[in-house]
Amino acid sequence: MAGNRGGKAKLLLVEDNELNRDMLSRRLKNSGYEIIIAVDGKEGLEKTTVEKPDLILMDMSLPEIDGWEATRQLKANPETKNIPVIALTAHAMLGDREKALEAGCDEYDTKPIKLPRLLNKIESCVANSRF
Ligand code: MN
Repeated sequence: MAGNRGGKAKLLLVEDNELNRDMLSRRLKNSGYEIIIAVDGKEGLEKTTVEKPDLILMDMSLPEIDGWEATRQLKANPETKNIPVIALTAHAMLGDREKALEAGCDEYDTKPIKLPRLLNKIESCVANSRF
C-alpha cells in the first residue's frame, strides 16, 4: 500500500451523496491527493481491490453494502486489511465512534467535514500504515 511513498497518497472516497462526494473530492484534489470515487459499498470493495488505495474514506450510511459491513469485509481480507479506513458519519451520536472502530475502522470523523481536521487524520493514518 506504500506505492506512493514520498508523494501524495491515493484516496478512495466511498460516498453515495453526490453533493458531498463532489465537494469533498474537489477539496481533497485541491490539497494534492489523487482521488478515486465509489458511490456505494459494493463499488467501494471492488475499487479497493483494483486500485489499491493508500487510504479509504468510508461514508457509513451507504446503499448495497453499508460502510460497517464493507469495512468488516476489507479488514477480513489479507489483501486489503492494512489499508487504513476513516469512517465518515453524519450522526455524532454516542457510541457511533465505537461502532465504527468495532467494524475495523482506523479513524472516525463527523460531517459536516472540517477539512484541516480531516487532513490531519488522513496524514496520520497514511504515515502509520507505511511502517
Ligand atoms: Mn450516505
